[in-house]
Amino acid sequence: MSDIVHARVREHLIRLRLGEVAERLDALLADAARKEPTYLDFVDGLLRAEIDAKQRKRTAMGIQIAHFPAVKTLEEFDFKAQQSVDQRLVKELATGRYVPLAENVLIFGPPGVGKTHLAIALGRAAVETGHSVLFVSATTLLAALAKAESEGQLKDKLNFFAKPKLLVLDELGYLPFEKRSAHLFFQLVARRYERGSMLITTNQLVAHWGSVFGDDVLAAAILDRLLHHSHTLVIQGESYRLRQKKKSGLLGRTSLERS
Ligand code: ADP
Ligand code: MG
Repeated sequence: MSDIVHARVREHLIRLRLGEVAERLDALLADAARKEPTYLDFVDGLLRAEIDAKQRKRTAMGIQIAHFPAVKTLEEFDFKAQQSVDQRLVKELATGRYVPLAENVLIFGPPGVGKTHLAIALGRAAVETGHSVLFVSATTLLAALAKAESEGQLKDKLNFFAKPKLLVLDELGYLPFEKRSAHLFFQLVARRYERGSMLITTNQLVAHWGSVFGDDVLAAAILDRLLHHSHTLVIQGESYRLRQKKKSGLLGRTSLERS
């Protein structure tokens, strides 16, 4: 008899799409037999197991969709090694609260100081707090927009990049934009303005954006929208990797230090 009930319970759980509880039913029952929780605690435990599993699945899928180029987390980020990073602001941004407010994040700094690391880690945090995220390098984004335009598909492509609640744009300014590209980028920024967040990493100070976009007026229009509701992280100092190598004695002293 109890076998029949057991089979029926599993079947019902599957029909109700409570797959985690269905799969772990025996273990959960054995655990309850041992710990003898109250009826309410037992139901609470079952529902928690299902909700946690669904949340894990959603996060894993969101991370896949985001196309992060590597696995980087905030736990791995050594804030002591990078004193110029405003740790409190990073912690606040990790809550993802800026995303529904469509606020932007700009991370400035020279090469190797952890901009991409933080961008990926904050992107992951945004996924974990329930937001859709897409990571793309500035070069890839511009190439995709230019190609779409030449194929008469610009509107679709702009919609594609306007859709995620957070668009992480890495390495803006490493390569100067062509005039046409700057215009395409402006269209995207205008489309996302006050509708979705952008998190941008760049090695160029705002003062140099005119030359990045090859047009001061366009750069000002882009910056105006990006900076209107924004958080700024400025990272200073030396490349993290270089410093690690120096620490390990691999590089010895540089010629600069010797002279
Ligand atoms: P950037 O994008 O500023 O050029 P990256 O984020 O690519 O720099 O960092 C270069 C490498 O150094 C990456 O592997 C990154 O994980 C690591 N790194 C940089 N800063 C830190 C840090 N403070 N703690 C841990 N790893 C770091
Ligand atoms: Mg980088």
